[in-house]
Amino acid sequence: MKYIIILGDGMADLPIENLGGRTPLQAAKTPCMDELAKRGTAGMVRTIPEGMPPGSDAANMSVMGYDPSIYYTGRAPIEAVSMGINLNPSDVAIRCNLSTVSDEPVYENKTMLDFSAGEIPTEQANALIRYLIEHLNEKHMRLYPGISFRHCLVLGNTAVGTRFTPPHDIMGKPIRPYLPEGLNGTRLTEFQRHSYELLKDHPINLERKARYEPAANTCWLWGEGTRPAMKPFKELYGLNAGAACAVDLIKGLAILTGMKAPHIPGATGGKRTDCAAKARAALRLMDEGCDLVYIHVEAPDESAHAGDLDCKIEAIEAIDRDIVGPVMNCLRKRSEEFRILLLPDHPTPMSIRTHTAGPVPFVLYRSDRDTSPHAKAYSEADCADTELFIPEGPMLMKRLISGEFS
Ligand SMILES: [Zn+2]
Repeated sequence: MKYIIILGDGMADLPIENLGGRTPLQAAKTPCMDELAKRGTAGMVRTIPEGMPPGSDAANMSVMGYDPSIYYTGRAPIEAVSMGINLNPSDVAIRCNLSTVSDEPVYENKTMLDFSAGEIPTEQANALIRYLIEHLNEKHMRLYPGISFRHCLVLGNTAVGTRFTPPHDIMGKPIRPYLPEGLNGTRLTEFQRHSYELLKDHPINLERKARYEPAANTCWLWGEGTRPAMKPFKELYGLNAGAACAVDLIKGLAILTGMKAPHIPGATGGKRTDCAAKARAALRLMDEGCDLVYIHVEAPDESAHAGDLDCKIEAIEAIDRDIVGPVMNCLRKRSEEFRILLLPDHPTPMSIRTHTAGPVPFVLYRSDRDTSPHAKAYSEADCADTELFIPEGPMLMKRLISGEFS
């Protein structure tokens, strides 16, 4: 028996006028997802516990079968683990985006122009981060390079207690009200200001500006936390598991839960990625003995944050065409019994370009027999029509493994 979770990050959305009142899931061509919905158990699930911010961290933790209200300690420590950073108990990890702010002389008077500095390529980003490391690292403040615009700052000998705002939530807004505040607020605002002074005229940014690309001219800090203590997946669910993913967040959750998480060439974690490569990696993990594989695709979420509707629809169609279809067909050919859980982690509506904590549409499918309630197709409205509602994300993992879907 094989278990496959296929998660399209931020896939769910709201009706869009330009699509004739349809959502991207309804507008996208998804014959494979629709087949699962017509033969499986469809409904809506709340992945984010009430009162928790709608982050991909808590949502994916929940879908992986871990209650965020027990295990969640912040986003950055999960990513830090994936970057190979060893966190001591008194270390606080903080996500450090390379972002683009406007050029006003006073730092506090600037505006957030691009949370990802135009998805700056990793090579350029790491050169900038290394430059900052030379000038800003100190005994209890260490910067670590990551992938594209995502990096990590670790503060030693301290605790959580600083308020941050994710940069993708303040696009086009003045930054003053959103600067770090609280325990390490002043110190970290100074860190951001210094990063701007150091980066604004860096040759890499002058070249980017000359090509009309967004300059990576500031560090923007958010998502602090200490190292989480998560039970191994094998201990909790009795299965060997693996993850086919690209972003540090999911890789970190995989490492913290003892799942295999191989590097997948071509998988970017950006708006455009190689879904077929992820499907092949997932099948390879199964061949290598994994009973369960978690396939995560970041593209729909990045597209929505960037306000790119066509890209969001293309990303959903690629998941259907290059992952759902090939994985199903391959397992059917092998006459291997299998079960699939298909869902997003949270909605990322195009209209607001950020996450919401609303319920998302899911399908549980088993290859040995049809289950119910079915849906007419895989979309928010069709899955809601079944009136099956799962109040907590981890319940889905339990149902996928037990086979008792409804
Ligand atoms: Zn997400």
